[in-house]
Amino acid sequence: MRELVILGTASQVPTRTRNHNGYFLRWEREGLLFDPGEGTQRQMIHAGVSASKITRICLTHVHGDHCFGLPGVLSRMVLDGVAHPVHLHYPASGGDVVRALVSLATPGLDLHLHPHGTAGPIADGIEVEPLRHRIEAFGYRVVEPDGRTFLPPLLEAAGITGPDVGLLQREGRLGPVRLEDVSVHRPGLRFGFVMDTGVCDGAFALADGADLLVAESTFSNDDAALADQYLHLTAGQAGALAGSGGAGSLVLTHFSSRYDDVGLLAAQARGTAGATTVIAASDLDHIPFPSRRG
Ligand SMILES: [Zn+2]
Repeated sequence: MRELVILGTASQVPTRTRNHNGYFLRWEREGLLFDPGEGTQRQMIHAGVSASKITRICLTHVHGDHCFGLPGVLSRMVLDGVAHPVHLHYPASGGDVVRALVSLATPGLDLHLHPHGTAGPIADGIEVEPLRHRIEAFGYRVVEPDGRTFLPPLLEAAGITGPDVGLLQREGRLGPVRLEDVSVHRPGLRFGFVMDTGVCDGAFALADGADLLVAESTFSNDDAALADQYLHLTAGQAGALAGSGGAGSLVLTHFSSRYDDVGLLAAQARGTAGATTVIAASDLDHIPFPSRRG
């Protein structure tokens, strides 16, 4: 099962209706917690996300709204008796902050620290790209391996049924029939996660081909000067990112507390997003991973 659970959608300052950041991605057997800001532990309870489901925690950068929830979440995992290994990924330059936060947590978790400093793979099916923020920041990409989809009429014509289908899949060949004769290439699903950044190549790379893209949208187009000054995206820039990468769906989040109604930001993003579906996230939303395209 794959879905995105929104735990918080506020930037810098939380509001009555928006908690600091926090995103939980269910990805088959993995549970990835992204950027746990303050209050994430309680938001998980509201959203029905059990701490024991977390297998990885991924930080884009060490500004407080993206990591101050870490000690609480880690302590809760110890309290709940989590025995499986948990992997914590973060920019290498944020090591001091991360170690300080981890040191506050109840000891006892099988926690593995994985700093990264360059673009590329950081774990099986997970890659990072540099973002452009006021401190070092990286966005994440989660990729399902490519596979093959069987074409039933061709299988039938080849007389392959039942357990032979599985055999063909594993062996790549069954008698004269090759796997590629009766199936087509199926690109793996892709998730992109772009947090605090100005427009940059890394953000475009993460948006490219994403079935679901989460992008910060701190400012309205009308406040583009502020976005420029603080190295954040406007809604229009987030939309353009998704549109140019041909993303299936764009989830906008990380809103400045100055906007009571983020409907305007969603409309601005739609104006530049082309065929991409645009959703303005609310706290506690459960967003099913989009089904395969084409
Ligand atoms: Zn932030």
